Amino acid sequence: MREKIIYLDNNATTPCSCKVQAAMRMCMAEQWGNTSSQHFIGRQAYRLLEESRERAAGALACRKSEIFFNSGATEGNNWVFLSLLKSNPTRRRIVISSIEHKSVLLSARALKTFGFEVVEMPVTQEGVVDTAKASELISDNTLLVSCQYANNETGVMQPVAQLCEQAHNVGALFHCDAVQGLGKDYFEMSKLDCDVATFSGHKIHGPQGTGILFLRGGFKAWPHLLPFAGGGQEHDVHPGTHNLPGIVGLATAAEEVVSNLSQRIEHFSSLQTLLENELLANIPGCIIHGKTAKRIPNTTNVAIPGLPADILIANMPLFCISNGSACNNGAIGAPYVLLSMGCSEKVSKSSIRISTSIFSVESDVQDFVSELVVMLKTLPTL
Ligand code: PLP
Repeated sequence: MREKIIYLDNNATTPCSCKVQAAMRMCMAEQWGNTSSQHFIGRQAYRLLEESRERAAGALACRKSEIFFNSGATEGNNWVFLSLLKSNPTRRRIVISSIEHKSVLLSARALKTFGFEVVEMPVTQEGVVDTAKASELISDNTLLVSCQYANNETGVMQPVAQLCEQAHNVGALFHCDAVQGLGKDYFEMSKLDCDVATFSGHKIHGPQGTGILFLRGGFKAWPHLLPFAGGGQEHDVHPGTHNLPGIVGLATAAEEVVSNLSQRIEHFSSLQTLLENELLANIPGCIIHGKTAKRIPNTTNVAIPGLPADILIANMPLFCISNGSACNNGAIGAPYVLLSMGCSEKVSKSSIRISTSIFSVESDVQDFVSELVVMLKTLPTL
């Protein structure tokens, strides 16, 4: 009987790396000052803050002045859409993809009550935003186009460069929720032409409750700054005492994931190939969502026909996998991403997401498939 828990839910959160833990411990023990204090301890903390900003900027290949530390991508995404309330009323159309994370979908939809028109770009059966349909929706009165770098449930990478160009051609801004791209694809902000992007620390082996809002050209270049008030930290983009241990951990994580990116990608890809070959060979009729699309290499979303995902998860308690985005708070409903791709409700509800990290090993995915096969033989199909 297996005793070891196998964690394969890294798109939900990742364990902090040893380097991150050490950096945070050092900060808590030795550099616990308030970054706004004028005295020696405060100045020391401020130096560490700015050094962390420099390191984060290096990891994202952007300027230090374009990095704003916050509490995570949910805050960042809300900030982007809320800030549009301050925009010029001549442009009232917001275009988002139908498969965005809920922090984008719901923040955008909330703007409808303020007179904005929010339209959603459809995706193909492979889960890729349809750029031809998008071009019909991105019009002269578009204020902002938003599209994620890669989908958190299927791993499918999106045509962000093309959508960004389409947005800029009509004078609209472009936002990219880049949470699932960093550390999983060759990533440089200088090559991604977006105006604003959002990142999360805990998806890259950094601490939970940390994130980055990237504003191209710095805070003065963003036309709709929110009137958040406080101590002026982060130019009032995220005012309040800095979470310095979190920021140090986040910068360490960002630096770490890009420094060994090609090995990471190779590692992820070989596990993904192994997992998907094993699934296809041993589970007749299983469907890998977005199989032929370009995907981040750590993510596989598979439908096991006839077996609802919540039953599968309940029967494999030692394997941490998911039946959709963790931000759905365990609510049982068909994942909207798969429905948007044209999957039936039954197939969507029979789909699970397996997402690996740099700490995952071959036996994790092999054991998962072999125990799944055994479990399928013992359970009646529904
Ligand atoms: N955007 C995407 C694509 C995500 O996967 C997540 C988390 O699952 C978020 C945003 C929210 O990030 P955070 O947990 O930092 O608020």
